[in-house]
Order: sequence, then structure tokens, then C-alpha cells
Amino acid sequence: MLYIHIDADAFFASVEQCLHRELRGKPIVTGRDGSIGVALSYEAKALGVQRALPIHLVRKQFPTVQMVVSDYYMYKVYSDRMIRIIQEHIPQISRKSIDECSANISDLCKTIEEAESLSSEIQNELEQKLLCTFSFGISTSPLLAKMASGMNKPHGITSIDPAKDREYYKKTISAVPGLGWKISHKLFEMRIMTIGSFIEFYPGVQKHFSIVTDDIHHQLLGGTPLRIDQHNLQKSMNKSRSFKVSENYSEVFGQLVVNFEHLMRKLRAEDFTCKSIHVGIKNADGHHQGESLLLPMHTRDTALIMEHMQILFSDLFDGKRGCRYVSLTFSGLRPNGGVQEDFFSEHEVHQGSEELFEAVDDINQKFGEAIVTLASTLSRPKRLGSHIDPKKNPITLRHKLLPYETENRRVKYPYLGKVD
Ligand SMILES: [Mg+2]
Repeated sequence: MLYIHIDADAFFASVEQCLHRELRGKPIVTGRDGSIGVALSYEAKALGVQRALPIHLVRKQFPTVQMVVSDYYMYKVYSDRMIRIIQEHIPQISRKSIDECSANISDLCKTIEEAESLSSEIQNELEQKLLCTFSFGISTSPLLAKMASGMNKPHGITSIDPAKDREYYKKTISAVPGLGWKISHKLFEMRIMTIGSFIEFYPGVQKHFSIVTDDIHHQLLGGTPLRIDQHNLQKSMNKSRSFKVSENYSEVFGQLVVNFEHLMRKLRAEDFTCKSIHVGIKNADGHHQGESLLLPMHTRDTALIMEHMQILFSDLFDGKRGCRYVSLTFSGLRPNGGVQEDFFSEHEVHQGSEELFEAVDDINQKFGEAIVTLASTLSRPKRLGSHIDPKKNPITLRHKLLPYETENRRVKYPYLGKVD
């Protein structure tokens, strides 16, 4: 079997540089709308900026870095373009995250060499059309392909042939995708530092862990994935937002409802129900507090979850202290269906609203995210301020406008012509 893994390099930052020509070649960090830097351009990495560094520290330590508000709508548009271009070559590609995808290419390529030349063809096309760079990994298991894609970033094509090449045995165990920091940490304590020693001592270490490590071990040797019940791996989902400090109840609640809608869409899309919810808020002074509530049953009923969320929020929200961050977590997730919902057949009562929300999901999918939203989100301020930090770097918007462009309306696709 042969697998390919494709990963965009510094994706969010590259999209920003693509859309805002004045940012090209400059150190930028996205996430100005939140509290930590989300994505760094390679120029910012070269300066030594670390990912997830708090925004105020980035400003202080790296004054030349331009801070940019995240534009997830455009990242999704670019991500869709990326997938569409790849699908021309590999119809069965599956998306792993906003900037990563992978596929079994055994039907398309017989050898690693063939896979490498297919990769370079796709890489050329992606980079020409999207103006971002992409890294490719090829191997006999999805896990090794993913690992390979990270080995020669940016603009790399890396293959691992576990039958011939054992270089990767020397890599640290924490470089293995999917192992998670908890397991890596435990392995470190057991003095298992490298992939090689993990493989060597495997049957011995296995008893400390779950089925997940079985699959990882199997794939590290180049084997195709073992069957794992994916549903058991995901126990919770979370969404948070940061915003300008507000003391207004409905404004802040509106922010929470945006998280709520996002998670509800995800819950329906992945066909899960949840058993408990957690609301967290951060006050203007950075004080964080949160509370959880158990739902009366495994459910994804909008009104029921909303009701519980409102109870938690009213308990937590204190208008006098101002609030700048809300988070929402759904946990105890399990697949919908095949399970008796509850003893009082409340399930049937909720069926109608479920159909309504599925129709809304369809509309949103057709016209882009969140065209139809709950009325309670309307009280939330619409604008977070201008997209690029105007105080920081006065060069913003000074590029020569293209024909038909104005200062306020700029071309929202890669401009591949010469830039002055
Ligand atoms: Mg990436």
C-alpha cells in the first residue's frame, strides 16, 4: 500500500500574505483577535517567534512583526481550493484538517518513485495557483506519510520506505503524530526516547497503553491502519472566542452562542450526541472561571442544550467585571442512533427541531458558513476592527491598487502578476 499526505506550509500566514500583497516577505503572526499567536509566517519563525506565544509578548519582543486578525472564512475558501486542485489528480483525497489531506494512492502509483513524481506535479500546480507552499509525505502507512510530510518543510517531498530506510528510527518519540503529549511523556519516563526504541521494546510497553498505541506501532513499521473505532477517540469538542472587553450581558452571550452554533453544526455533521456541557469565561482582569452541567440524557437537542448553557452563563457572567473571552465544551460524546435516547421518549418531541436545523446546515453549507444564525448572535458587535494592525505598520494598503480595486475593496484571490 502507498499513502500520500499533503500539508500546507504556514497555511494561515501564507493565505494572509497571498491576499494582502503588502505582507509578502514580511514576518507576520495571525491571531490578533485572540490572546495567542495562531500561525506564523516563515519570516516570523526566522526571527524566533514561537507558536502560541501570547500576543502582547509578540508585540513586545518582536516589534517588527505584523499582527493580523484571523480570517477563518478565507482560510476555508483556500482550503477548499486546495482540495479541489488535488482532487483533479487524486479523486479519493480525504481532508484531515483545514490545511492537510491524505489518500491511499496504491491504485494510482505502484512505486515510491511514481508517487514522488505525482507529488511534484501536484505541488507545482498548488503552488502556482494558490501562492502558498506545500509539503508532501509518501509512505506505506498513513502515519509515516504524515510524519514524512513534516520532515522537509517548507516545499518538501519526502518519502519513507520502511523496508529500506530506517533513518526515522532515530527521531524522537514525540515527533510521532497522534501519540499525544501524555503518552509521549509516559514513554519518556520509561526511557523510551526514540521511535527505534519504541519499536524495539514494543510488546513490553504496550500493556501500559490503549489500543491506540497498537495501531501506532503497527503503522510505524509501515503497516496499514488497524481498525479502530474512531468514535471512541473523540470524547469532547470545544470552541472559544476572544473579543473586546464587554460588560453587556447580551453582547457576551451572543459571543457564546456563536460557539454554540459552531459546535452544534459539528455535532450534527459528525452525528454525535453529548452528555455534558462546560462554559468558561475570562474577565477583563484575566480571571478565568468555568462551570459544567450534566444534561438529562445523551442529546443534541438545540433548545435543551441552549437552556443549560444559559443557566451556566447566567451563573458565571458578572457585568461589573467585564468579559473578554468565552468558551464552550461539549463532552461525553457518543455516536447518535442505535441507542435508546431516554425513558420518556423526549426524543420524538425533539425530532422536528432536529430536521429544521439540518435544513439550516444545508443552507449554510451551500452559501458558506453561518448565513443563517440564531437571533441571539445579532447583539454581538460585527466588526473586530480593521483586518491588519494599522498602528503597527503604516505600509498597510500602500501597494499599488489593481484596476477596479479601491482601498476598501481589494482582490480576494491570489494575484499572480508582478507586485511593485
Ligand atoms: Mg500545515
